[in-house]
Amino acid sequence: MRCAHCGQEYPSEYYFKTDTVCLDCFGKMSPEERKKVVNNYLMPHPMTSTTFGIEGYRVVKQLGVVRGVIVRSRSIVGKIGADLQTLFGGNITLFTELCEKTRAEACDMMVAHANQIGANAVLGVRYDATEVMDGVTEVLCYGTAVFVEPVK
Ligand SMILES: [Zn+2]
Repeated sequence: MRCAHCGQEYPSEYYFKTDTVCLDCFGKMSPEERKKVVNNYLMPHPMTSTTFGIEGYRVVKQLGVVRGVIVRSRSIVGKIGADLQTLFGGNITLFTELCEKTRAEACDMMVAHANQIGANAVLGVRYDATEVMDGVTEVLCYGTAVFVEPVK
């Protein structure tokens, strides 16, 4: 493996802090630079799982529950459109889209929280939605933040 910063060739990933930065280079970096390379390394979405394991990786550290919460109200136009769709039945696309977007945002927030506490994966991811009041929905995304490493 070759370090993307100093170009030095190393025999294994044990010499690396992330997939592209060696321990030496990482040691010389400023806190901002470190944050940047670590965030790039974390690659949030492929490393979230609804199960309690990721194939090819093992959990080396449990960092606790992380969550993301989004509270969203429907626009009145969206509501009228959806009311019309409800009359015709089937998949209510206006809501499907809204729910998808809201879930993705809640998930992003959860992943950001996991990154902050030094996790590189989130396991056992669940979604929960509650109607707080008429037309206002809270979407919660939560999971267990962990630090994983590839199984040798
Ligand atoms: Zn290096």
